[in-house]
Amino acid sequence: MTETSAPSNGDHASLHARHRAVMPDWLATYYRQPIEITHGEGRHVWDAEGNRYLDFFGGILTTMTAHALPEVTRAVSEQAARILHSSTLYLNRSAVELAEHIARLSGIPDARVFFTTSGTEANDTALLLATSHTRSNQVLALRNSYHGRSFSAVGVTGNTAWSPTSLSPLQTLYVHGAVRSRGPYAQLTDAEFIAACVADLEDVLGQAGGSVAALIAEPIQGVGGFTAPPDGLLAAFREVLAPRGILWISDEVQTGWGRTGEHFWGWQAHSQSGPPDILTFAKGIGNGLSMGGVVARAEVMNCLTANSISTFGGSPVTTAGALANLKYLLEHDLQGNARRVGGLLAARLSAIAAASPLVREVRGRGLMLGVELVAPGTEDPSPQAATAVLEAAREGGLLIGKGGREGNVLRVAPPLTLTVAEAEEGAGILQDALRTATERLR
Ligand code: PLP
Repeated sequence: MTETSAPSNGDHASLHARHRAVMPDWLATYYRQPIEITHGEGRHVWDAEGNRYLDFFGGILTTMTAHALPEVTRAVSEQAARILHSSTLYLNRSAVELAEHIARLSGIPDARVFFTTSGTEANDTALLLATSHTRSNQVLALRNSYHGRSFSAVGVTGNTAWSPTSLSPLQTLYVHGAVRSRGPYAQLTDAEFIAACVADLEDVLGQAGGSVAALIAEPIQGVGGFTAPPDGLLAAFREVLAPRGILWISDEVQTGWGRTGEHFWGWQAHSQSGPPDILTFAKGIGNGLSMGGVVARAEVMNCLTANSISTFGGSPVTTAGALANLKYLLEHDLQGNARRVGGLLAARLSAIAAASPLVREVRGRGLMLGVELVAPGTEDPSPQAATAVLEAAREGGLLIGKGGREGNVLRVAPPLTLTVAEAEEGAGILQDALRTATERLR
């Protein structure tokens, strides 16, 4: 890879100032001096100053296979050279083929696929389907959830830090489900926790008054800090919901496409319940192209009777790129790679964690690993530690994410082609960053 000529520091500093002057204050950026990423290859990216980083966050879990994967780049550029756009009013060969793959992979019988341009829009559409199908605007969601930033998606997002309005068009009822590491649920076994959550759900439903449209849930909470309910919880929920005609929406925006290693979809960790009624996806399928979508059985998808279009959803360029990306993922068994390399990385991170006073817990599945940080010698969540580790990791040449209800969880989610050597290298940089951060926080 040849390095591009780097703009001067002055240019970069002024870009940051220009960014702040023109973008909303609430648009988050990482790092005291945010990075301007100029290009990438494989599991690496470069910034405008010529620095190279191992990318353990993949543009918030969007780089599913690899940066600049030749198969995807070729599909996108060949399609772009033919035509950029046509709209859903005309047939699109790669959209149909991609939808056929996704319908088959979803496990949903008689599935229909609708393409959107983001995860938010996918969840918005899922909520539209569920509320229309049931003629109810009451929706269940998990506490600590994140489902996007449209008006209805913030209305089912269970943390006020990420959900800036209380004027949702939906009536949302929050139930327990994922967060159990602290508070009254901390001491419970999986079975006891599931029983307690089911009792909570039944209680909430008893108070609801009127019908409820759906439960929307992430199988592993992403922005929420890679927190997972015990396997089987969503199946237990479904036993309560299905007899009442309440639909289950599985938000697979972060957990889809084999990232969790053991399963292709997050819902499969709850597999005794069969597939969800509605599945939403985004992020990884486009490898960075703006693509999301909804899968539902025909009877649910077709409950909307109004004629509709999507100007940009399923456009020729995004579907061509996503199709090449998905084929690469399946042909190279990247789910298997996520399981193998993710398992090694988890073991390595756990060993590092045992020696660090900052780490409370390493958790997650496959290549979706969370490292929860606390103030040394305490159980107190430490967002300062997460910020300090992110800065130190960057200095060492590693990009990672952070999240969690208190902003104290490091999120490790590299592209699914990660090699064992890269996993080792990244873990080593993270180990040094934890040491550096511990010293700086003294
Ligand atoms: N759902 C989940 C689980 C997410 O993590 C996100 C984004 O992080 C979204 C929905 C929203 O997706 P987007 O940012 O593509 O609108």
